[in-house]
Amino acid sequence: MPRINLAMISRHSHNWVSATVLGTVMIVMLWLGLVIKHVENRTNDLADFKRDAENLALLSEENVLRSIGEMDKALLYLRRTIETTAEPRNYHALINTTDVLSELIVQMAIIDDMGIMRASNVGPQPAPPTDLSDREHFRVHLGSDRDLLHVSKPLIGRASGKWSVQLTRRLTRKDGSFAGVVVASFNPSHFAKFFGNIDLGPSASYAIVGDDGVVRAAGDRGGDQRFKLGQDIVGSALMPLLSRGNGSFDEFDKATGEERLVTIRRITGYPLAVVISVDTPAVFAPSGANLGPYTLAGILLSLMIVTVTWLARKSQQEVKLKARQLQLTLEHMSQGIMLVTRDMKIPIMNRKCVELLDLPEAFIMQPPNFIELTQYQEERGEFTTAGLEAHQSPLDVFGPLDVAGKFDRYERTRPDGTVLEVHSTRLEDGSFVRTFSDVTRRMRAQSEADRLASEDALTGLANRRVLSEALDRMTRHINDDAEQTFAILYLDLDRFKIVNDTQGHAVGDLLLKAVAQRMRRSLRSTDLVARLGGDEFAILLHAANMEPFPEVVAQRMVDALSRPYDIDGHQLLIGTSIGIAVGPADGATTNDLLIAADLALYAAKAAGRGTYRFFRKEMNDEIRARQQIETDLRAALTGDQLELYYQPIITLADRRIVGFEALARWNHPVKGLVTPDKFISVAEDCGLINVLGEWALRTACRQASHWPKPLKVAVNLSPSQFASPTLLPMVARVIAESGIDAHRVELEITEGLLMRNTDRTLQALHELKKIGVRIAMDDFGTGYSSLSYLQSFPFDKIKVDRNFVSTLDSAPQSATIVRSVIDIASSLGMMTTAEGIETEAQCTQLTELGCDEAQGYLFGRPMPWAQAELLLAANDPIARRVA
Ligand code: C2E
Ligand code: CA
Ligand code: CA
Repeated sequence: MPRINLAMISRHSHNWVSATVLGTVMIVMLWLGLVIKHVENRTNDLADFKRDAENLALLSEENVLRSIGEMDKALLYLRRTIETTAEPRNYHALINTTDVLSELIVQMAIIDDMGIMRASNVGPQPAPPTDLSDREHFRVHLGSDRDLLHVSKPLIGRASGKWSVQLTRRLTRKDGSFAGVVVASFNPSHFAKFFGNIDLGPSASYAIVGDDGVVRAAGDRGGDQRFKLGQDIVGSALMPLLSRGNGSFDEFDKATGEERLVTIRRITGYPLAVVISVDTPAVFAPSGANLGPYTLAGILLSLMIVTVTWLARKSQQEVKLKARQLQLTLEHMSQGIMLVTRDMKIPIMNRKCVELLDLPEAFIMQPPNFIELTQYQEERGEFTTAGLEAHQSPLDVFGPLDVAGKFDRYERTRPDGTVLEVHSTRLEDGSFVRTFSDVTRRMRAQSEADRLASEDALTGLANRRVLSEALDRMTRHINDDAEQTFAILYLDLDRFKIVNDTQGHAVGDLLLKAVAQRMRRSLRSTDLVARLGGDEFAILLHAANMEPFPEVVAQRMVDALSRPYDIDGHQLLIGTSIGIAVGPADGATTNDLLIAADLALYAAKAAGRGTYRFFRKEMNDEIRARQQIETDLRAALTGDQLELYYQPIITLADRRIVGFEALARWNHPVKGLVTPDKFISVAEDCGLINVLGEWALRTACRQASHWPKPLKVAVNLSPSQFASPTLLPMVARVIAESGIDAHRVELEITEGLLMRNTDRTLQALHELKKIGVRIAMDDFGTGYSSLSYLQSFPFDKIKVDRNFVSTLDSAPQSATIVRSVIDIASSLGMMTTAEGIETEAQCTQLTELGCDEAQGYLFGRPMPWAQAELLLAANDPIARRVA
């Protein structure tokens, strides 16, 4: 893996020496060298051969000259002997007595002026006269008076029958006339023998050739010899070369296409030449023999060069590719990047970097140094915005980053508002790489996500998570600062569920928004208000030990949220119950505090809603007790532990019993008789109220059906029962089953139901009336009593709450209120019943105020059914009985 030096990709270093070119040059040079060497070898071969051939030719010449000289001497000696011998001469004797000095000579002969051989030392003796007048060696002297040594063409001797060459000289008389010739024949194989000792290679041929083109002697080395004795070379390519003097010549044989190197040495003084002929290729055989190994070596070296070149090229290409890849990567990065060297140079700066930092385009090709860059940016106000404080100066980069591999990251907002994430990493060589990423969108998305994650979508309040986190922070600091107290208020909207169920979710949502708005308006901006879900809210108050105290805030909330709402044309009334936990006293952890606040909320609800409660340690027990009641109540409903007590209702005018109110009692196996204030609200909370209500109605109707008509029975209906869609059919069915006249049944509802003065509630009441039952308004005067309620529905009866009765003598306004209620009721045709009459004084006063009926301990406590039966059977006037 080649390590890439970043500088390699800098714009100026493209001077690649291609490995391919280098390799090719090397191979060309190698082969050129080989060719030159080969040519040199050939030149040497040629020179060597020429030298050897010419030396040999010289030696040959000398040999020939010496041999001819020797034979000539013999001839001259014979001639002188003949010429000095007086005539008539005995040629036979002369020839046999003359010592032949040369061993080369195979025959000596004498030919007379007529051309007749007169004597010979070879053959039959005396040699018979033989006519040789036609022979060349005779005729040559016949026509010439010059004393020349004639060398004949080789021919087969008539006497010897062997190849021979005749050397002849003229015999001259004293008067100078021609007297014949002396002849010395020699065997040309003598020269052949000489040549046989010479070795110029197998293709070399040797000859002694006369100027007439006839071969006088030919080398005898066996094999394929070019020259043959007696051969006539006239007409061959060699012939013209003979006249060119000594030297070596190229001969080209047009007929065969053969090339030869011919060395010619003229034999001084004779029309003869030594010819050494060799096939040209043979001359170059030594260099030819080297050609193979040279070529092989050349090929091997070439292969090596090719391999090395290929490897070099490959790695070069890899490096090139890597560099290209790196460059492409840098150019296509979504990040800006720059490399700053130890000496503050910037060898690398990509386009994105220039874009992100808003630098001149020219910086890409020619980046300034880092100090210049910083100055440039400073002048343009680049560092005036936040993000750089932590790095006092951008030049400070080497300070915190003095260790290789260490990196540093910060965010910086540019003057145009974009946010850059700047990341610097120290490299081994002391330089550092800095990248820039545009994180503007990410930051915006992040803050938007943070907002969404921490906000309740509907109301825009904080959500449960934010509250928990805030609480976490506060509980974590409890130990640091014991003085620091805080309060958590848990709010649960009263009656919201009914609005939501009856008016629909759209109205419910608008109502929740309105609630959120009111909450926020009645709080300080430092207080945290959160919606926990549904109709649950929470408020976190700092410094709970200082004003405004939590209870002040809680009461403000209760008041603010219970004012009527106008949503979409609907008048809506809800309220809130609030539980308060104070930290750190009520809990050390977030969880403990939330549980405490929840318990306090439960207590507030149990206390009748529309109020607040602080957490108390006993609440845990109360909750447990309520849970116990719930469990027991389920058993009670199936196990016959419930019973109805009946309280008589009498007319004030004559104290006649006109009916009874049925009131639930629980014969608890352990606790004994339990009154409804202990279990009705539990039943309402856990949904058992529907079962309980049905049981009460059925029991009351059944038991009352035995009473003499027209005695009525009053049964209490819980507002929760109106949420059940089966309320109407249940009432109709139960009355029908019991067989009682519907108009003898009076259903008591409370004002609370009418506070949800909704169309559905009123419609339900009308439907109930259609069944035939009477409807009474119970506990009138408690809660948000409004006389206008009385006009909203034609009640049969108004029951004045016993609070007014008990305060008649103490609070004068009670009488006023009771009177106006009675006046309005009577004007609307409604009966009035006063509850809780315990004294005769109260009885008298209410009679005077015009009240129709009364109920109270003065006339009779709630009693078991059997007792009520007895009371009726006795048929005693109540007044008397009580008195
Ligand atoms: P309520 O409907 O107002 O019932 C009258 C309550 O006043 C009864 O209490 C009764 O015992 C009490 N009372 C009557 N005369 C006097 C008096 O002269 N002085 C005093 N101090 N109290 C008097 P009780 O039976 O404990 O019932 C309490 C409440 O429980 C009832 O108030 C009623 O709202 C609810 N309740 C009772 N039974 C049922 C039931 O079957 N269904 C439903 N939904 N509610 C019931
Ligand atoms: Ca009642
Ligand atoms: Ca009542």
